[in-house]
Amino acid sequence: MIDLSTLNTGLFVGGEWRAAAESFTTFNPATGQPLAELGSANAVEVDAAVDAATAAFRGEWGALAPSRKGQLLNKLADLVERDLDQLAALESLDMGRPVGASAALMIPNLIGTLRYYAGWADKINGELISNDGYMGGPAPTHAYTRREPLGVVAAIVPWNAPLMILGWKLAPALACGNTVIIKPAEDASLSILRLAELIAEAGFPAGTVNVLPGLGKVAGEALAVHPGIKKISFTGSTETGRAILRNSAGNFKRTALELGGKAPQIIFDDANLEAAIQGAAMGLFFNQGEVCAAGTRILAHRSVYDSVLGGLKGAAEAQVIGDPFDSATTMGPLVSARQRDRVVEYLKKGADEGAELIAGGSAPDRPGYFVEPTVLAGDNSMTVAQEEIFGPVGIVVPFDSDDEAVALANDNQYGLSATVWTNNVSRAHTISGQIEAGAIGVNGWSPLAPQLPWGGVKASGVGRELGYEGILAYTETKTVTVVL
Ligand code: NAD
Repeated sequence: MIDLSTLNTGLFVGGEWRAAAESFTTFNPATGQPLAELGSANAVEVDAAVDAATAAFRGEWGALAPSRKGQLLNKLADLVERDLDQLAALESLDMGRPVGASAALMIPNLIGTLRYYAGWADKINGELISNDGYMGGPAPTHAYTRREPLGVVAAIVPWNAPLMILGWKLAPALACGNTVIIKPAEDASLSILRLAELIAEAGFPAGTVNVLPGLGKVAGEALAVHPGIKKISFTGSTETGRAILRNSAGNFKRTALELGGKAPQIIFDDANLEAAIQGAAMGLFFNQGEVCAAGTRILAHRSVYDSVLGGLKGAAEAQVIGDPFDSATTMGPLVSARQRDRVVEYLKKGADEGAELIAGGSAPDRPGYFVEPTVLAGDNSMTVAQEEIFGPVGIVVPFDSDDEAVALANDNQYGLSATVWTNNVSRAHTISGQIEAGAIGVNGWSPLAPQLPWGGVKASGVGRELGYEGILAYTETKTVTVVL
């Protein structure tokens, strides 16, 4: 049993834990019972966090040598590794993912990201640029660029993969010399609160990282409008992304928006069908389908359509839904009653619009926020094929030609990721160039490795995280010229 009594559940500001003026209750998704009472940051407390982060940026953290910043990121990675099982348990308890997946995939992803950007901390360079001099010369000008940190950065994080997604923001922001204010999601803050304790233990100067649990409408909005914050890095729904963009326009904040998705998985007639079906099922059901890149539109060539339907039906029926801490469980509950009800609404809409039910289709009558793994057959114009459901629900749509597959894949407001299943190398590269998405996986999922840029196009967002793009995203270019 996880002991929450020793976990700090207030606000982490300026290196200290403070009680918040207000609080909110979170619930255990596997039982529906109250889980924790967390501090709920208000606008005044947001101001205090911005002050602390600004002081650290101008003070101790800003003055720290780049290599020392890298050492601290590595130290944090070591502590996360030491407490991996505890962090995995906290996150699974909070949001419902089977704990084995948290321990094997999500927390290691955070460790990898911290280590990757620890290596960057003392390798962030500008460049020397040859130029024509003032108004074309003749005096030569020595010119170079500096890559400078932005200042105070806010990271607003969703509940579906709190620590992994936070790592994509926190690690590059710190490596580049920024200070950070984190706003975890209401429904899953516990693992991030524990991370804050590890940040203190690692020895980051006070105020370098601040954590404000709280409500999106209160703490999130206060961060978005705050003039002292130079960048908002947000991952969450498209609707909230729009609100953040509007609210942050006041002081021309940089915004990085990682939003929703409705990823197509295109299975061609020449694909290794067994691997494609297995991969498609993972893309549908991993993390209860609460994945921005979830492959919820399975586009199957008509010659393999029946086999794909049969394979996915088998895969859905083989899922074991239950307690995230039971080792037999492959799919846990959805994060909240609200999310479960939202998914059930979509299932009703699918039935109303004539989608054929292949497997699943309802919420089991048991405590907790469970939904059956569901496979539908239908066409791409249905609501269930167009909107992000964010649950274990996929729709299979047939196609007859490569052109039709691409047209169907692109016939959606989102453009985060896609997978292409084919053994034809030429087709794989051609189709990868034609699909409107930020990431394409051929014969497998994009690995979400720290070296690889991640982000969407269209309504899936603006900007990229990870890789060298992560460094560019957290630095400003300054040009310095010296007339010689
Ligand atoms: P959400 O937009 O409801 O909340 C995300 C975060 O934003 C939370 O911390 C929330 O408190 C905060 N927030 C809410 N309203 C706010 C406001 N007005 N101003 C500032 N902050 C506010 O999203 P969610 O339900 O937590 O997450 C699910 C969504 O996230 C899905 O749409 C999913 O596709 C998306 N997502 C995208 C990626 C990606 O990499 N593109 C990854 C994971 C999840």
